[in-house]
Amino acid sequence: MTERVRHCAWCGGAFKASGGPGRPQRYCRKSHRQRAYEARREAKRRDLGPDEVIISRRNWEQLRDALYRLEAAGEDVATDLGAGRATKQDYIQALGHLSAAVRDLQDVAVEPTAIGDDC
Ligand SMILES: [Zn+2]
Repeated sequence: MTERVRHCAWCGGAFKASGGPGRPQRYCRKSHRQRAYEARREAKRRDLGPDEVIISRRNWEQLRDALYRLEAAGEDVATDLGAGRATKQDYIQALGHLSAAVRDLQDVAVEPTAIGDDC
């Protein structure tokens, strides 16, 4: 049986799907298929369009704040390294700064409560 690497339609994570007959596997696990179904059902109940998604305020604020910190870190690094006099130590500190901002973003799990169906 052939296995192909696909990305889960719910979490975006990579998984190996069997290439057998039938509909291609869209989710990495059954629980993600179930959550996607529930989110589509909620979208239908709220009459959302295919481009509309509902996430909690808390989730949106976490994502917005983490993106802001990443953007600010990117600007800091560009300023610090852009003067043309950066040392190896400056680069090491810049990478540490960026890395911390990326970790903040990785900790944000965006979990929609409703997502419009794109099929
Ligand atoms: Zn998944």
